Amino acid sequence: MATAASRFERAAQAFVRRASGVRWLRAVVLSPIVARPGYWFATLCGLVWGTVLSLGRIRPQGGVIVARKCPRWAFGRGGTTIGAVFLTNDALSENILAHEAVHRAQWKRYGLALIPLYIAAGRTGATNRFEIEAGLERGGYIS
Ligand SMILES: [Zn+2]
Repeated sequence: MATAASRFERAAQAFVRRASGVRWLRAVVLSPIVARPGYWFATLCGLVWGTVLSLGRIRPQGGVIVARKCPRWAFGRGGTTIGAVFLTNDALSENILAHEAVHRAQWKRYGLALIPLYIAAGRTGATNRFEIEAGLERGGYIS
């Protein structure tokens, strides 16, 4: 079911449209020299957030670093990937982890720019290009 873009999403869309229209800005923001440290920073934030909230061990699994047994209010849907870290309670199937590993690769490619890009892509999973790339079925968006 498609929902109307929220005011927040529309603001992100306008921001992304304007920023990506400036060619040099787009090139700088998406260059590995800027994007990679953003990914590292996001990973650090994910590790800190996971360390504070997780009641399980934090360990690499299926292409991401899993912080399991996090409280359900701490993430969206079955879990959220921040940088390399997947925060979840118990969504640990092979399919979900493969889906989250694609999100990790997106963080690596876009760095912190992934945040406004993801918001601009909309919260409806079935039409969000990052969710489509990660695999809607694997991510549990469609069955
Ligand atoms: Zn996803």
